[in-house]
Amino acid sequence: MPVPDIRIRSINHRPVSQDGRYVLYWMTAFRRTGWNFALQRAVEKARALERPLVILEALRCDYPYASDRLHRFILDGMAANARALVDLPATYLPYVETAPGAGRGLLATLAREACLVVTDDFPAFFLPRMLDMAGRQLAIDLEAVDGNGLLPMRAADHAYPTAYAFRRFLQKTLPAHLMTTPLAKPLQHAQLPEPVALPKHLTAKWPDATSMLLEGGPELARLPIDHQVQPCPLPGGETAAHERLDTFLAQRLEHYTEQRNDPDLNMTSGLSPYLHFGHISSHEIFAAIADREEWGPNRLSHRTNGKRTGWWGLSAEAEAFLDQLVTWRELGFNMCCFEPQRYADYASLPEWARKTLGEHSRDPRPTCYTLEEFRDASTHDPLWNAAQRQLRREGVIHNYLRMLWAKKILEWTPTPQEALAVMIELNDRYALDGRDPNSYSGIFWCLGRYDRAWGPTRPIFGSVRYMSSGNTAKKLRLKGYLEKYS
Ligand SMILES: Cc1cc2nc3c(=O)[nH]c(=O)nc-3n(C[C@H](O)[C@H](O)[C@H](O)COP(=O)(O)OP(=O)(O)OC[C@H]3O[C@@H](n4cnc5c(N)ncnc54)[C@H](O)[C@@H]3O)c2cc1C
Repeated sequence: MPVPDIRIRSINHRPVSQDGRYVLYWMTAFRRTGWNFALQRAVEKARALERPLVILEALRCDYPYASDRLHRFILDGMAANARALVDLPATYLPYVETAPGAGRGLLATLAREACLVVTDDFPAFFLPRMLDMAGRQLAIDLEAVDGNGLLPMRAADHAYPTAYAFRRFLQKTLPAHLMTTPLAKPLQHAQLPEPVALPKHLTAKWPDATSMLLEGGPELARLPIDHQVQPCPLPGGETAAHERLDTFLAQRLEHYTEQRNDPDLNMTSGLSPYLHFGHISSHEIFAAIADREEWGPNRLSHRTNGKRTGWWGLSAEAEAFLDQLVTWRELGFNMCCFEPQRYADYASLPEWARKTLGEHSRDPRPTCYTLEEFRDASTHDPLWNAAQRQLRREGVIHNYLRMLWAKKILEWTPTPQEALAVMIELNDRYALDGRDPNSYSGIFWCLGRYDRAWGPTRPIFGSVRYMSSGNTAKKLRLKGYLEKYS
């Protein structure tokens, strides 16, 4: 089945060149070789035009928050892609910029000999701006393909205000899209012409990243990026993502419903960094769960009442997990797609939340911390500090504690606007899964997005939902967590 039209859009509406030597796939967000609608579309185009395929996976050094941590994870992914593409019919160019601006001109030069460029349609961070700029520069068609989630982003026509409303919409709309999945191995048996060699002048100026750098060599230390934010123990890449998924399915999913909120047990999938960097697709995760439970679309319920359970026709734990992976995750993509200028702005909070936070913005704070004090985990609260240390060391925070982490930042900064800036700065700089639509869903949820007003009204929070470290400590087992991150 070809890639559905609803997932494809032209960025610049320019023609496809019939004289091009190849089709270029510019991999920017879905950094994987399987289950990738964008790669699949590039293969379809190459086959139709009877041209070879060239894949460019580039890594700039001047994107916001560029650091050893983010680079290492992406480089692991590039190494895995290089290995996966050996013997497959495509020319793979993994390019890593070594000085700001050194990569400028690479895409345009490659595109000069291409029929068209196919790329990934990711709705957040600097990527939409980069695509618009590239579209203006190129003389040929730049097609962006949405491989973000089970629901094509443009199956909706506006941003949904609550998870409940979005879930109802999903229950009505998703069945029509659910069985159109990307190919697991789009390049296998693709019957494409022999891969081309790229011209010497191009590879001399923009050489392939060395295998030493890709495989973890010390060259990373010489790149002009932030070396204070160290790599995490978690390896990146498609292979590591598959291992994570297998472990989750074999050992954790069955405990997901009762134990996902327990930081000491660590029963969630840990897939968010891989989803963020496109090292795994939610289609593949869904297919693995469906396979495990011998699921078919005839199991879907006809009731589209927005209830969290009972719609998929899967076990309770699989339904709870899919509510996160599909409803909550894709709600964030829906927001970024339909509010591209506003999704990370304070002004995008619902009116009731802005009103109540505004009314309480002059309330005395019990204490206030600077960005540096938050960053260095030097607050008075051992639980908050432990969560911040986990973020700095491992690039992740347990989901439940992540909510508390953000709520406390709201309580300990002079204004909600400043709290928002601190949350975004720390989350996007240190979290492997930061800079994602989910980053802004999570952070803004703590300020009232997708939530409702709660009573009683409290200082600072007004009617925004309140959380306290004391209550969290009563609810959760935290002994091991506090010891580990003390
Ligand atoms: C303040 C704050 C900041 C957050 N920042 C991010 C972020 O930068 N990147 C990010 O991916 N998530 C973020 N989240 C959401 C959530 O914390 C993570 O998605 C989750 O902890 C990732 O762990 P996991 O992969 O083990 O999740 P699992 O429980 O295994 O869930 C599977 C997948 O579902 C999605 N998911 C799970 N929980 C949520 C949620 N609450 N909202 C949206 N999607 C969800 C994620 O893609 C996740 O990988 C944030 C939440 C809060 C409260």
